[in-house]
Amino acid sequence: MSGIYDTVVIGGGIIAAAAGQHLTAAGYRTLLAERDDYGAGTSSKTSRLQHCGLGYLSAASSSIAAFLAHPRSAIECLSLMRRAMQGRAEFVRLAPERVKPVTFIVPLTPENAIPRWKARLAFRLMAASDGGQVPLNLRILSAEEARAHPALQGMAGLRDMRGAMSFTEYQYHWPERIVVDTIMKARAIGMEALNHTAVTGLARQGDRWRVTLTTAGGARDVLARAVVNCAGVWTDEIAALAGAPHLRRSIGEKGTNIVVRLPQSLRGIGFETVTEAGAPFYLIPWGELHYVGPWDSASDGRPEGFRATEAEIAAILGQLGRLFPGFGLNREDVLYAWAGVRPRSLARDGKGSSPAVCEHDLTDEGLPNIFTFTGGLLMTHRDAGRRLTRAVRRRLSPSGPPRPLDAPLPPSPDMDRVTETSVTHAVLNEQARTLTDILRRRLSAGWEPDLGRGHAETAAKLAAPHLGWTPEETAAQVAAFMAETTTEFSLRVP
Ligand SMILES: Cc1cc2nc3c(=O)[nH]c(=O)nc-3n(C[C@H](O)[C@H](O)[C@H](O)COP(=O)(O)OP(=O)(O)OC[C@H]3O[C@@H](n4cnc5c(N)ncnc54)[C@H](O)[C@@H]3O)c2cc1C
Repeated sequence: MSGIYDTVVIGGGIIAAAAGQHLTAAGYRTLLAERDDYGAGTSSKTSRLQHCGLGYLSAASSSIAAFLAHPRSAIECLSLMRRAMQGRAEFVRLAPERVKPVTFIVPLTPENAIPRWKARLAFRLMAASDGGQVPLNLRILSAEEARAHPALQGMAGLRDMRGAMSFTEYQYHWPERIVVDTIMKARAIGMEALNHTAVTGLARQGDRWRVTLTTAGGARDVLARAVVNCAGVWTDEIAALAGAPHLRRSIGEKGTNIVVRLPQSLRGIGFETVTEAGAPFYLIPWGELHYVGPWDSASDGRPEGFRATEAEIAAILGQLGRLFPGFGLNREDVLYAWAGVRPRSLARDGKGSSPAVCEHDLTDEGLPNIFTFTGGLLMTHRDAGRRLTRAVRRRLSPSGPPRPLDAPLPPSPDMDRVTETSVTHAVLNEQARTLTDILRRRLSAGWEPDLGRGHAETAAKLAAPHLGWTPEETAAQVAAFMAETTTEFSLRVP
């Protein structure tokens, strides 16, 4: 036994990071344990949007009366939209260097055209939700303007287009880095954080939880007054570990994106529409490229669910071909693809998913002082941290004094370049242990068009002396990074 904590946070994705930061700032002595690396789970497989929440109002697009006829779901949608707008304003203010504005266009076709007043009402409601702090820059284009817009050339049904809307969304450059930033901020105010450390046991000992932590080097136990389960799509497995396999709160929903090069007329422009089945479908700029998706499918949350299948890639190409028949894109044009499994909240009937984003106190369900979070999103992660901290506080008082939530970190080197200084900083100050940790989650090199493969040898050699890698281990790290990149991003091996 080597530690007694107020709270042990399980997971190292964006929700665990936010929970750890807020709990530590509230004075809880906190340990966070992630079995892989920080931000390596679903948080690294997203569409990278700090959404404004317009999608939550889509249920009202055909009939406001019908939307209001179901007051419970209407309130839920309005509250999700409000939180999205507030999360957007908060994050853009606190971390402007981690986001950038992108102009999105929504073509208004005969199927989805809404009257101008309705569009204006929706955007007014949204602007009121954050007090107008971060402008949405709504522009409504007439049918003529839409038909002449360079980004819409080649689109199916252009002649029947009723108009278009354009507005500003924010895109994260690099969500993994946001997870790392948040964990480093929490460490700076006293949180202990362990990556490559799995929670493999949870048992009651007196009025505390004995938490077994397992690394490649062995296992050890710590004690915690409370456990905050932020294991994403694996939260129910943690409940099972604590002896409650019947407690199901989450359900996995897989989403896939592909990366392609689109015509110059779309460079830098986002495009938002729906699939034939009515699901949101985006073309999102990524440097000179675009990623396109998501394509949603069911998933059991197993790691193999995190890979894009050929069927999913073909389905996205099919949707793209339906929208822009002129592009003529096929499998050879897909540079790479990725997939992730969303940790959605289980619907009340226990069957499908629900859009709810919520904390659960499992005390009255036989798991005293275990808290969990479902439906967590990058875009509202700070709200998740606050909600979990409030839930813990209702049961336990912190053992220490409050600390500053966003204390400034010491300046770090330029993490957009692979240099001796940046790699050393990643290893010595930010707990990177593998080449993938370094290239994908501490430095941005892993997101360059070649997915960091061109930097692998250099970065491995720079990291080797700090991590005690022999020449054989250094070569093995490079080989592992290359192999992982090929499988995780569905690269075609020549
Ligand atoms: C295709 C797609 C597109 C998306 N687009 C967006 C978007 O544009 N904007 C947005 O806001 N959200 C988006 N999301 C949703 C968002 O990415 C996720 O909901 C969010 O990242 C979930 O974070 P998390 O911390 O709950 O889960 P994760 O990031 O998966 O973190 C959970 C962590 O728990 C760890 N863990 C599991 N078991 C254990 C254990 N026993 N011990 C220790 N650690 C353990 C895992 O290794 C994992 O790292 C998207 C999701 C997908 C799939």
